[in-house]
Amino acid sequence: MPTSQKRNGRYVAEVTKYQEVGVRLVMEGALTARDRVGVQDFLLLENYTSEAAFIENLRRRFRENLIYTYIGSVLVSVNPYKELEIYSRQHMERYRGVNFYEISPHIFALADNSYRALRTERRDQCILISGESGAGKTEASKKILLYYTTTCPARENNASIRERLLQSNPVLEAFGNAKTLRNDNSSRFGKYMDIQFDFKGCPIGGHILNYLLEKSRVVHQNHGERNFHVFYQLLEGGEEDLLKRLGLERNPQQHHYLVKGCCPRVSSINDRNDWKTVNKALTIIGFNEAEVEKLFDIVGSVIHLGNTQFGEDEDGETHITTETQLRYLSKLLGVNGSELSQALTHRKITAKGEEMVSPLNLEQAILSRDALAKGVYRRTFTWLVAKINQSLAFKDDIYYSGKCSSVIGLLDIYGFEVFQINSFEQFCINYCNEKLQQLLIELTLKSEQEEYEAEGIAWEPVNYFDNKIICDLVEEKHKGIIAILDEECLRPGDASDITFLEKMEDTLGGHAHFVTHKLANGKTRKAVGREEFRLLHYAGEVNYSTNGFLDKNNNLLYRNLKEVMCQSENPIMSQCFNREEVIDQKRPETAATQFKFSLAKLMEILMSKEPSYMRCIKPNDGKQPGRFDEVLVRHQVKYLGLMESLRVRRAGFAYRRHYQAFLQRYKSLCPDTWPSWEGNLADGVATLVKHLSYTPEEYKLGRSKIFIRFPRTLFITEDALEARKPS
Ligand code: ATP
Ligand code: MG
Repeated sequence: MPTSQKRNGRYVAEVTKYQEVGVRLVMEGALTARDRVGVQDFLLLENYTSEAAFIENLRRRFRENLIYTYIGSVLVSVNPYKELEIYSRQHMERYRGVNFYEISPHIFALADNSYRALRTERRDQCILISGESGAGKTEASKKILLYYTTTCPARENNASIRERLLQSNPVLEAFGNAKTLRNDNSSRFGKYMDIQFDFKGCPIGGHILNYLLEKSRVVHQNHGERNFHVFYQLLEGGEEDLLKRLGLERNPQQHHYLVKGCCPRVSSINDRNDWKTVNKALTIIGFNEAEVEKLFDIVGSVIHLGNTQFGEDEDGETHITTETQLRYLSKLLGVNGSELSQALTHRKITAKGEEMVSPLNLEQAILSRDALAKGVYRRTFTWLVAKINQSLAFKDDIYYSGKCSSVIGLLDIYGFEVFQINSFEQFCINYCNEKLQQLLIELTLKSEQEEYEAEGIAWEPVNYFDNKIICDLVEEKHKGIIAILDEECLRPGDASDITFLEKMEDTLGGHAHFVTHKLANGKTRKAVGREEFRLLHYAGEVNYSTNGFLDKNNNLLYRNLKEVMCQSENPIMSQCFNREEVIDQKRPETAATQFKFSLAKLMEILMSKEPSYMRCIKPNDGKQPGRFDEVLVRHQVKYLGLMESLRVRRAGFAYRRHYQAFLQRYKSLCPDTWPSWEGNLADGVATLVKHLSYTPEEYKLGRSKIFIRFPRTLFITEDALEARKPS
């Protein structure tokens, strides 16, 4: 056979193989695989400092449905917005126990890598998934969970844990996800999930931490958005009897809290099927019938709260005009109707030790109704997570003695968000992203540096933007934005969103990352409104409207409403509202401070584990398959700091391997020396690399590992190994 044909034959075979399992191929010839599909690791880019080359590589691969690419050990993915046949059981098998560079990039490779590190090094792992709304974080975290629950061995008598782990997702998504303009299934809460493994590597349990549910959605949705999925599932899928018992009309348009976004149905969502899925999941997780009934009583009661209306009588007193709603509220929430009605229209305050009751006007009554709806929903969500955690908890004493388990944590948390109007919620979400960026910087640079130091390898540090200054701006004690906000929330008298803005101007004016409409020369900056402030985030500039900041941060539910709720006969409600809270006159922590503390705790958890990163990219704003919007992608590449990650990795060594592992894999390439070699490992590696003709700049020998600067070196060695295999 002529050489060219043979080559073409091999080319076709290998490309097919490549597309199938993704085995890397570098071909000489007219159209190389690399021309078509780019490089599978950005470290291999010739022009690695060029953003254009980076994006072109992403685009080429995306066109070929190769949605995954590495930057060293960081996995970058581009949402395909279509089902790809790459997540089957067979695919999972291919990635088991295989090293990164031996097979094409894949989320299963990332999952497997963490699992192997957990097993061999006995160190807790975490996988941090980031990217903007709709980029594919939640789908990725579900695929990782599926990989572990499918491929890891099952523990005797505890096989059902796998199913329970998986089934936690539909439940949490029903209550915590919603259709937004960006994503039909947008997570409106942050989630960190630990998957626990025993010493044999069997999944044995899990634990979920949830962060800041966007509870304002319960009472208001922007045009084109929906409330949380569960409301529509209940109305669409709930049996006749159930809806009758709950006193609910099936049509979402009839319900005040569900019509704000004018978007009751979404073509990509089947609420009726999802209703079945969620109910099944609740059963598998271990909810009994009574609990499920009480849970949906609460969901129904929130809908009724939305339909509750108020009127003013001749004396100007506010009262509830919708008697039917009140009756259902009383029944479903298990509370006394007239007490609830009184609590929704009055406010109890204690001044100088004396208790006073003051009536609410119409507007205040509506606010107190909405506050109750948000409070009930948020607390129910927290209860749900606690209940799922009970079901996922491993109940073995040996485990609790802490000897035999290790965990892989999965972080799926809201990405950086910029809307036309950005409020308190975006402020919290973007602050969270600053913290994660800070962690990423510390961990990547720190761990790189530590390893080089431990191995005695000289290293040139790379310059990068340290966003600590922005984290401090937000969270610093006494003078950060949260501290100023809290101060205004606690200050009696004329405190308002505007005084909050003024205080920030006084304290933070002149800060390099904080801007208002006022310019130093007394003129006005047009790009920032009079009721706005702008933060220069690591990921870009965002204007925040201060409107509603104080209210949202205050997190207040009037005491008399809490009093009514903690007497509830609905067992879920009575667990959600407890007496101590009512007796305790101390002001509860503000929302921002609570969030700050929970983030600090999360950072501690993540710092104690060995991290892997996945960075998700959204290719277009239209949720369309195959469309690659370059401007949008470039923006994400920038703010995800991908070019910086690449520079850091390139400055160091792409791969490192223990001497033993390196010898084990490649010694067959030097048959004259092995198997009779009897020297020590370091000398063995030195001999082997000499035989393989590595140049001095390609590698360095540390104390226990060989460091290889370019992946290309390893690929050529891998090719040589491949070529030795019988065809
Ligand atoms: P948010 O921050 O709003 O929660 P997200 O990053 O979690 O967004 P996902 O919900 O994971 O985004 O993904 C959005 C949608 O994109 C999915 O509902 C799905 O239709 C599609 N999608 C994401 N990843 C994949 C994938 N690997 N294959 C096919 N479709 C995907
Ligand atoms: Mg999500």
